[in-house]
Amino acid sequence: MDTEFLILYLALGIVAVLMIAVLIMLFSILSKVEKLAQGGGRSFEASPYNRVNIGGNAGGTVFCTQCATQYDASQKNCPRCGKSR
Ligand SMILES: [Zn+2]
Repeated sequence: MDTEFLILYLALGIVAVLMIAVLIMLFSILSKVEKLAQGGGRSFEASPYNRVNIGGNAGGTVFCTQCATQYDASQKNCPRCGKSR
């Protein structure tokens, strides 16, 4: 009887240790997945920075270096203060 109970308790202990190990692995995997998901979200947020380049001087508008007035690039002088580009 005693040996049978010992084997049962040993088996239960082994199962309990295995379950704890599996839980620890699951938590570590979940935290890694969360970090990956967060990193992916950050890269998605950082990717649209190319939009900044679209609005550069390609639109044909320039800013006056003296009074900061925005005027067409075809004009050689600022319409407000007359400063040449
Ligand atoms: Zn100006």
